[in-house]
Amino acid sequence: MSKLADLHIHTYFSDSTDSPQEVVRQAIEKGLSCIAITDHDVLDGIEPTRLAAESYDLEVIPGIELSTEKDKKDIHILGYFLDYQNPQLQAKLNPFQEARVERVKEILKKLKAFGIDNISLEEVCALTKSKAVGRPHVAALLIEKGWAKDMNQAFDKYLADGAAAYVPKWKLSPTEGIELIHAYGGLAVLAHPMLNNKDEIIPLLVKAGLDGLEVYYANAFDHQIFYYEKLARKHKILMTGGSDAHGQAKKHTYIGAQSIPYELIEKMKERVASRQEGAKNVES
Ligand code: AMP
Ligand code: ZN
Ligand code: FE
Ligand code: FE
Repeated sequence: MSKLADLHIHTYFSDSTDSPQEVVRQAIEKGLSCIAITDHDVLDGIEPTRLAAESYDLEVIPGIELSTEKDKKDIHILGYFLDYQNPQLQAKLNPFQEARVERVKEILKKLKAFGIDNISLEEVCALTKSKAVGRPHVAALLIEKGWAKDMNQAFDKYLADGAAAYVPKWKLSPTEGIELIHAYGGLAVLAHPMLNNKDEIIPLLVKAGLDGLEVYYANAFDHQIFYYEKLARKHKILMTGGSDAHGQAKKHTYIGAQSIPYELIEKMKERVASRQEGAKNVES
């Protein structure tokens, strides 16, 4: 039987409730051989997950899910196998996190104007182990304090694009996201294309060097998977997949809810190796 991988997992270093230890425990329980940590705009969860996985037969691929924006639409670009311990890359990502904190301050100000004055920045920041705070954290507090009955209501009333306390995020363009991932040795993959409703950008991203599509995504319909498989073949790019698990913060999915055969990871590794080979030839 083929080994199985889940290449889209968040930790409490962004907006999941799961610690690295919990992620590893669940991955082993589900019989996975390989996982990727893909926190939003932050790399801090990778090393602790690798440490937690050391005594198991579990490969942990370094990853990230970069927030980018095109025509006011959120486009998430996954980066795999990047040089996650490179201090220059860490420094490049710092402004993303600073911007996230500033944005939460703005959201809280807007909420205050609506009479919601019992949510502090400290409380929001306490919900993640890094500085990658976001709307899901504010939503959790809106629910806890009785301002919204669930996530959907918190977003609809306050946090969604166009709602009362919406504040846009400082973002890269998808092309800049791809460049950033490539500059640090990674593969760039378009996350959950079936949620974006923006397929027309795929050829542009391929031109910019996109390496793959996240074809296999938890809860995607078969016809969507079929469609993106065809598209990936047409553009001669990779197919990846994962659960987008967020622990208790997103209950409709969980680690292993979507897994892919390890053969697809081997193809990713071949592509990383040939890119590094190409880079060497350019240097010499
Ligand atoms: P942020 O990165 O702070 O803009 O938050 C984006 C995250 O909020 C996404 O990854 C989703 O998990 C979540 N989100 C966005 N829109 C909604 C919505 N309408 N209902 C529930 N969660 C949402
Ligand atoms: Zn998330
Ligand atoms: Fe995403
Ligand atoms: Fe995600």
